[in-house]
Amino acid sequence: MHTIGILGGTFNPIHFGHLRMAQELAESLSLNEVRFIPSANPPHKPAPQVSADHRAAMVQLAIANNPLFSLDNRELLRVGNSYTYDTLRSLRDELGMQTSITLMMGNDAFTKLNTWHRWDELLSLCHICLVARPQLPNQPKIGLPKTLESYLQAHYTELGDDLAKNAFGLITMQHITALDISSTAIREAVKNQHSVRYLLPDDVLSYMQAHQLY
Ligand code: ATP
Ligand code: MG
Repeated sequence: MHTIGILGGTFNPIHFGHLRMAQELAESLSLNEVRFIPSANPPHKPAPQVSADHRAAMVQLAIANNPLFSLDNRELLRVGNSYTYDTLRSLRDELGMQTSITLMMGNDAFTKLNTWHRWDELLSLCHICLVARPQLPNQPKIGLPKTLESYLQAHYTELGDDLAKNAFGLITMQHITALDISSTAIREAVKNQHSVRYLLPDDVLSYMQAHQLY
């Protein structure tokens, strides 16, 4: 079965945390490809100060020489809120139901999954693979809402290999190298005139500087 991973995000900007997660999950889940899908209008965030076109351009630069990775612009071509459910429907229209599709997600995103549009139908279209993000020491530990706790239990498999054998319907968790990098911290650092070198690819940094982003 063809196996694809998708990583949605605001990518404001893309950084090594995103890229490393995609690379490690591509290997551990035997993915044939990973698609990066920038969110044009994230429903649960204030509108990003940087346009979707700039954010997508930075993704393109970041993934340029990785044959496993591609940029998928479909959310930029739609109007209104960028709902993952709609994106998955459109991917299924294109790929059919016989391809294994895995949505990659940090645990911070998963704790809010129950607020997503048609969240309880997502597993009829894809698998979910969770990764832990490093916890900031001054952040309260966010517990999982009860609905998500039972959702996780009902669909959980320890075996990453199961995701390549089924097209959709499973949740797993994979260990990846913990990188305490966030777009928020990068935007803050730039604002305060601190260096963000080595947190993201040089080409992305050059693009940010050329276009005076953040
Ligand atoms: P922001 O601070 O603006 O929210 P972010 O760094 O969280 O940006 P997003 O674009 O919001 O990046 O994240 C897209 C996806 O990537 C989410 O599922 C998020 O959990 C995951 N992710 C982001 N950074 C990391 C990281 N360092 N390690 C693991 N997962 C990450
Ligand atoms: Mg985030």
